Amino acid sequence: MAPRPSPALTFDLAAKCPTTKARAATMHLPHGSVQLPMFMPVATQASLKGLTPKQLEETGCKLCLNNTYHLGLKPGQKTLDAVGGAHKLQSWPYNILTDSGGFQMVSLLKLAQVTEEGVRFLSPHDGSPMLLTPEHSISLQNSIGSDIMMQLDDVIATTSPDLARIKEAMYRSIRWLDRCIAAHQKPESQNLFCIIQGGLDLELRKECCKEMVARDTPGIAIGGLSGGEAKTEFCKVVDTCTSLFPTHKPRYVMGVGYPEDILVCVALGADMFDCVWPTRTARFGNAITDTGEHNLRHAKFADDFGPVDENCKCMICRLPSEGGLGITRAYIYHTAAKETVGAHLLSIHNVHYLLDMMRQVREAIIEGKYPGFLKAYYWRRYAGDKEKYPSWAVEALRGVGVDLMIDD
Ligand SMILES: [Zn+2]
Repeated sequence: MAPRPSPALTFDLAAKCPTTKARAATMHLPHGSVQLPMFMPVATQASLKGLTPKQLEETGCKLCLNNTYHLGLKPGQKTLDAVGGAHKLQSWPYNILTDSGGFQMVSLLKLAQVTEEGVRFLSPHDGSPMLLTPEHSISLQNSIGSDIMMQLDDVIATTSPDLARIKEAMYRSIRWLDRCIAAHQKPESQNLFCIIQGGLDLELRKECCKEMVARDTPGIAIGGLSGGEAKTEFCKVVDTCTSLFPTHKPRYVMGVGYPEDILVCVALGADMFDCVWPTRTARFGNAITDTGEHNLRHAKFADDFGPVDENCKCMICRLPSEGGLGITRAYIYHTAAKETVGAHLLSIHNVHYLLDMMRQVREAIIEGKYPGFLKAYYWRRYAGDKEKYPSWAVEALRGVGVDLMIDD
């Protein structure tokens, strides 16, 4: 069956890597077009930690994440309806993706309990019992007005040994998808994505793909990963799922944000990623670079007057003569521990780093040079020491025709 076109999402495939499963595409959404593959920064409470909307715009971001759970509590649905949604609330003219709110509840609230009806929990405000149903999650996301909404799913840790519970969660997530589709009031302006579950069991994942792909949502996510499972298992799930997805729909792997994980997932055919890690690690003084993460709180940077990253063209790293701030490592060292400004500056750099890496990835795919890009990236990351390459990445990339150990 040919997928029906979504009124709020068009997916134009620009190029396919001749070797791996990587793709480059343009996704047209209600608040503008975005280039895939892409990384989406996470703005928890309608603000990216450490960045103003203007600063986020300067990194080139055209799609960021908001958390339904946080927005539902504050400012709350009534205020969201009154102001006309989250774009207006945070003065963000580009696209927004919202999660369902379920994951936050299960991970933040110890007393959350999942039943067929929904997720039961005690209000963090007054301890009163509350219930998040698929219908309520969609109603909140309709009030937020996000360009991409996620279904409420039943999330289980991939490391859970309880296969019966994983199976129950997978089938429940399919039933909840049907309830989400039925509850969705604005399909003409908001896209609902399904979330594939099934833990690390490839047969369950395949069954979930079959059922959810048949429901023909505008985009598809792979959920429940990045929970501490072995990276080899993680890659098998991504590889298995993308092989069962239709070509002309965006594929989103949730919660993935380390550069190496993203690069491998792109080779396995995924298009979209999100993670709080770039801004979280910035708050600990870590700058992400091609040669790995560097902690600028280390005393060796006290008199280092070089830019945070010589190869970076972000607002922070560019010299004043190039229109940037010309921030030095020494400045971050002396401010990171005491002042929030150090963390803010590093957040801008880190978000820019990931967005820029994705721009390079896309260019390499379009030029048919992604395998060479992967080899060059790993070589820089590990200073040419192939012994240090993570075996899971080497193995996963071999599976799609790229051998990191062999130079071209
Ligand atoms: Zn930078």
